[in-house]
Amino acid sequence: MDYLSYALKQDDLDRLKEFKKQFHCPDGSRYFVGNSLGLLSESAEQSLEEVLIEWKDHGIGGWLSDNPWYYFSEKLSEKFAPFLGADKSEIILTGSITSNLHQAIATFYQPTSKRFKIVTDELSFPTDMYVLQSQMQHHNVDLEKGLKKIKSHDGFLLTEEDIFKSIKDDVAILFLPSVIYTSGQLLNIKKIVEYAHAKGVTVGFDLAHSVGVIPHQLHEWGVDFAVWCNYKYINGGPGAVGGLFIHERHHEKEPAFKGWFGCDKQQQFNMSHTFYKAKGAGGFQLGTPHILSLAPLKGSLELLEQAGIENIRLKSMKITDYMVDIIKELIPELTIVSPLLANNRGGHIAITHDEAYRISKIMRDYKVIVDCRGNIIRLSPHPLYCSFREVWEVVNLLQRIIDEELYLKYEKKLDIIT
Ligand SMILES: *Cc1c(COP(=O)(O)O)cnc(C)c1O
Repeated sequence: MDYLSYALKQDDLDRLKEFKKQFHCPDGSRYFVGNSLGLLSESAEQSLEEVLIEWKDHGIGGWLSDNPWYYFSEKLSEKFAPFLGADKSEIILTGSITSNLHQAIATFYQPTSKRFKIVTDELSFPTDMYVLQSQMQHHNVDLEKGLKKIKSHDGFLLTEEDIFKSIKDDVAILFLPSVIYTSGQLLNIKKIVEYAHAKGVTVGFDLAHSVGVIPHQLHEWGVDFAVWCNYKYINGGPGAVGGLFIHERHHEKEPAFKGWFGCDKQQQFNMSHTFYKAKGAGGFQLGTPHILSLAPLKGSLELLEQAGIENIRLKSMKITDYMVDIIKELIPELTIVSPLLANNRGGHIAITHDEAYRISKIMRDYKVIVDCRGNIIRLSPHPLYCSFREVWEVVNLLQRIIDEELYLKYEKKLDIIT
């Protein structure tokens, strides 16, 4: 069967195909950057509108009306918990990756003369690295001695052997991404946690590129803490409120940063100067929740529930496998830097090309949205709104652009956001 017929057949069989209608796709484009900013669904649009109407109709009364904003984060967290294999007490929707990571590291990082290192990887996303640096500086720990970055041999992937080798007796915290944001490599969270815990090391994960596209078992795997954002695969909207997971065994810990929304709900409005921590991850919240940036998440989560995270992962593996096959066939000179086995990667495929930037730019002229990070082009077919046929079209276009050097039309100058 040729590649196009295969795509059409898969689209026909696709159990998630009905979801595409839910999403507003700008200008009818083929949208392959759902790993960066997911699209707006009708369902999310509606849940946002509901909150606007509550504000319009009730003003301050919205805090305790039918869908009380006072409990909004906690209610949504309850819905979210199953996607992460967490107990509802273990997660809270709040803050951003950056602020939640500050909270988590500040809480968990208590360096001693024997255990003071934080281990992460050299491919890490900049904001994560800034947090680790600033937390160490806050403790007056010398970054050269204290912050260890696991090296990558090829600049794209990590090996388990290198990760394990980095876990020594002087390590306080191991912090890694579940999926490396450039290459899309998926790490084996369960195995890493087991190994690190055996050495007495606390383990945290950044789930930015796995939440909403891969099932997790955070509780069972024993992850100590995790952070993520909800504007990528979850489709919660630009700057959507993020998430924090704190394993049950740490629920007695004092949050390093306290705020009045971390208080027990019954006590909060006593306006006492004594902090009575809410049970569970909720106790790590800071100020008033960003209700308008939580609202779309309600609709997004409903879609996710209907689709089922297992189905999403199955389609994601199949459609990225298809993308790999067709790239190898049509553009053999391209290097695919993502792991070739679907089990070892997240929801996107990364390829490298010296002209990555200009290629990604000219693709927009053909209504194909992809992104580039350095010489990497990332192609992310979101299982809820991308089809196999679109993958076929996008890779064919990519082939034409490269063969005919169409990208020469653009200057090399980078835009502010790539
Ligand atoms: C998207 C992303 C971030 C962004 O952090 P914010 O605080 O939400 O802006 C951080 N880390 C990783 C790995 C990401 O992919």
